[in-house]
Amino acid sequence: MDTLQQAVSVLGSTGSIGQSTLDVIARHPDRYRVHALAAHRSVDALLSQCRQFRPRFAVMVDQQAAEELAGHLADSPEIEVLHGEAALSEIVTDDEVDVVMAAIVGAAGLRSTLAAAEAGKRLLLANKESLVMSGQLLMNAVHASGATLLPIDSEHNAIFQCLPVAGGDASGHGDSKAKVGVSKVLLTASGGPFRTWTARDIENARPDQACAHPNWSMGRKISVDSATLMNKGLEFAEACWLFDLPASAVDVVVHPQSIIHSMVQYCDGSVLAQMGNPDMRTPIAYGLAWPERIDAGVAHLDLVAVSRLDFEAPDEGRFPCLRLARESVAAGGTTMASCNAANEVAVEAFLAENIRFGDIPRVVESTLERVTAVEPHTLGVVEAADREARMVAAEVIGEFNRTNKGQALV
Ligand code: NAD
Ligand code: MG
Repeated sequence: MDTLQQAVSVLGSTGSIGQSTLDVIARHPDRYRVHALAAHRSVDALLSQCRQFRPRFAVMVDQQAAEELAGHLADSPEIEVLHGEAALSEIVTDDEVDVVMAAIVGAAGLRSTLAAAEAGKRLLLANKESLVMSGQLLMNAVHASGATLLPIDSEHNAIFQCLPVAGGDASGHGDSKAKVGVSKVLLTASGGPFRTWTARDIENARPDQACAHPNWSMGRKISVDSATLMNKGLEFAEACWLFDLPASAVDVVVHPQSIIHSMVQYCDGSVLAQMGNPDMRTPIAYGLAWPERIDAGVAHLDLVAVSRLDFEAPDEGRFPCLRLARESVAAGGTTMASCNAANEVAVEAFLAENIRFGDIPRVVESTLERVTAVEPHTLGVVEAADREARMVAAEVIGEFNRTNKGQALV
């Protein structure tokens, strides 16, 4: 085996980010080999990825799905099939692993992401929820182990590219930003599919409308988050943790074309922007190869075809989730973990057509009113806050549905 090749474990390989990651890896067989692939329970998708990438390990968190996969792979004994959440941490901490792509959706990705950070790997962080829930713990783990943290979220990847080069990886920029003249980071937001809709139409938007993002093709959960602007709220928290910035140093700007992926403003009046076609393979390739650059399979940006770039302020009246996330960051402690958990429950209920689109921020707000924040010193405390908020959010949804009884929900 070529020792120059880096061994990569891909968590959430069957999802949108996972597939884009494998697409980039497949373009560079000289640089990368797949050590492990992991997903929840999509057997067919993981099977075809196993056939193409021949990993050492394949993990299905769901046991029945793992048994089914193992049956299909009986002719490939060199691929070991594992199951259960603990297997996710095993395949990222393995000594052979150089790079971990953390692309599981939601709080389910927390433990394995943290395990990769503790093991000192090159951590490509797509699972923003882990940082949002337990930013301090994750950053402490990165610093203690010497892990290399590279943001994959397009906005944070853009900010990372526009920050001064002196400080190493994302976490390494540390507290030197004021010294190097950074005054603000400007997070761009597309505004989502309902940017121009009236509050009344937004209230009753349906799942397929919420998932039809104008510029990006993504998993359903993050697509709904983009439609409520909770995604920008999560990214606001993510930026504060990643780049060690106070909330006052992060502004959100709506930019409907999604060509500028975010910006850094300096004290001399300069604003540096990273631009490109909206394709997650660009930040993924940057994370894989940093500090080098490799082909990502992304078409060059045709600025004449784009022709114009527009900007506007976010409207927190029609999109209260952004306000709720900002307030949760300001409240500190486990508040943002609770906000994230309540949002996950609300989004799931919306996708199952149990609540209206307009109820998502109401569920989050009512949940936050009923939970008490504590200091998130340990993973156990964060997970307890997550569980409590999920229970409360489910109660709130039950109450909404009893109140709404007799009214059509769809
Ligand atoms: P997705 O829904 O397309 O894929 C999710 C993946 O996670 C799948 O492989 C699924 O099998 C796996 N998964 C789900 N539940 C799991 C569980 N309980 N245990 C183990 N695996 C589980 O999601 P996505 O759009 O690829 O997003 C993945 C992460 O990347 C999210 O945190 C999202 O916020 C972030 N992200 C995505 C994009 C994007 O363009 N899609 C952009 C920025 C950030
Ligand atoms: Mg993003």
